[in-house]
Amino acid sequence: MIVFKKIPALKTYLKNLRNQNLTIGFVPTMGALHDGHISLIQAATDRCDITVCSIFVNPTQFNQKSDLDKYPYNITADLNRLLDHDTDVVFIPDADEIYPEGDSYEMSYDLGGMDEILEGAKRPGHFEGVVQVVDLLLQIVGPDQLFMGQKDFQQFSIIQKMLELQESKIELVVCPIIREKDGLAMSSRNVRLTEKDRRDALQLNRTLLYIKNHIFEHPIDDVLTAAKRMLESPNMRLEYLTIVDVKTLQEVYEIKPEMKTVALIAAWVGDVRLIDNMILRK
Ligand code: AMP
Repeated sequence: MIVFKKIPALKTYLKNLRNQNLTIGFVPTMGALHDGHISLIQAATDRCDITVCSIFVNPTQFNQKSDLDKYPYNITADLNRLLDHDTDVVFIPDADEIYPEGDSYEMSYDLGGMDEILEGAKRPGHFEGVVQVVDLLLQIVGPDQLFMGQKDFQQFSIIQKMLELQESKIELVVCPIIREKDGLAMSSRNVRLTEKDRRDALQLNRTLLYIKNHIFEHPIDDVLTAAKRMLESPNMRLEYLTIVDVKTLQEVYEIKPEMKTVALIAAWVGDVRLIDNMILRK
């Protein structure tokens, strides 16, 4: 495993590999790696000759500085995990390396409003930051395949849209959500949950499962009302729970068998904001 902090050295190294016709799989992360991230590394290792992982806690996608300050960071543990999982290249740039001229950015892609709903509505500027950093990282790494998690459903949908607008040759590979044994979706933020929060947080997955198990037999409104009731707790604050079309992310009001839909949830559990989702199939 070889670790780079600087863009020119990384680019030269990868160019050399590309000249040998080796394919490159890229896994962008913000570190605090868990088995969800490792599943992306494994998918990249299975499908590509070379696996590149970046660890960069991107300041521009945090709309609240307090969230950025609290974001877990343990580079030694992360590098050890990557070493254990056959990662070839790790890129850990400083913010100055990625944004030498400051980090202001104007979105130049017309995402058709996809970035302004759901997470975008609750976290203004978040997806501008995500698009900015993923775009830059893709230019630096130049991968054949990009690996992202279904966990961040809106994020991968927006990056897919960006790649389409760019007419990019990069293939986006979306990997399933990795969960703890009890169903909680793995997240770097989970380490901040207290014992009580951790128990309460299970309700997110339970609610999604309830929706999945009832949505094909009952009216959507009834199912969502019952599901929202499952989340009523003094320690929890629901931000959204909605069923959307997987491609457009537009809310659906009626389920038809030919539709591909996903239930999306965001909720605060104690002081921690969690997101989760479930594709709705019979
Ligand atoms: P992050 O470090 O949170 O920015 O996540 C980096 C990548 O890992 C993103 O593509 C996430 O969607 C993905 N990821 C995060 N959690 C999970 C999970 N539980 N299962 C699968 N992928 C995940």
